[in-house]
Amino acid sequence: MAESKLGRLFVMSGPSGVGKDSVLTAMFEKLSGVVRSISSTTRSPRTGEVEGKDYRFLTREQFETGIAAGVFLEFAEYAGNLYGTPLAGVNNQRLDGNDVILKIEVQGAHRVKEAAPDATLIFIEPPSLAVLESRLRLRATDSEELIKARLKRATEELECVLWYDYRIVNDDLSAATDALRAIVIAERCRIR
Ligand code: 5GP
Repeated sequence: MAESKLGRLFVMSGPSGVGKDSVLTAMFEKLSGVVRSISSTTRSPRTGEVEGKDYRFLTREQFETGIAAGVFLEFAEYAGNLYGTPLAGVNNQRLDGNDVILKIEVQGAHRVKEAAPDATLIFIEPPSLAVLESRLRLRATDSEELIKARLKRATEELECVLWYDYRIVNDDLSAATDALRAIVIAERCRIR
């Protein structure tokens, strides 16, 4: 008979503009028992972002104190700011039986896989770099320089896909959401 189980750990990565947030939001509407981890970051809040909901916004000093105290499951520097996953939040959710999904960049994903080899890593890919570029331009939030930097970073990130357990190509939101949901459900059924 199945015992009450520790929630599973999932990691999602993918280049900026690939639609990770849309896929995650749509998946949360369709599946219960899975929650997002709230990361800490030293970057400033963007308009509309809420402390404790989008991120915990810390000073670099607070973040570094946290690193020294071992509060992060993983952390990484990205575009000049530190980002990290608080270990206690993840553990508490998992102990409550919830699956936890981290939306983090590729270095952090690699560290999670080392620290927690049973984590399931999922990479969201654009159909092509040309599609990613047009999505970044459509967002119209970034300067030309920033778009170029994001595309360069995307090319590097796409090379890391082989570290991951699953790849989802986001050419259609509904299909990508179904694929993510199917992966979470399949992992829940896994025996080993
Ligand atoms: P943004 O500043 O656009 O919110 O995030 C920049 C990048 O940092 C994204 O790729 C995002 O997934 C990643 N990120 C967010 N939180 C964490 C975290 O806790 N750890 C790591 N390693 N990356 C994170």
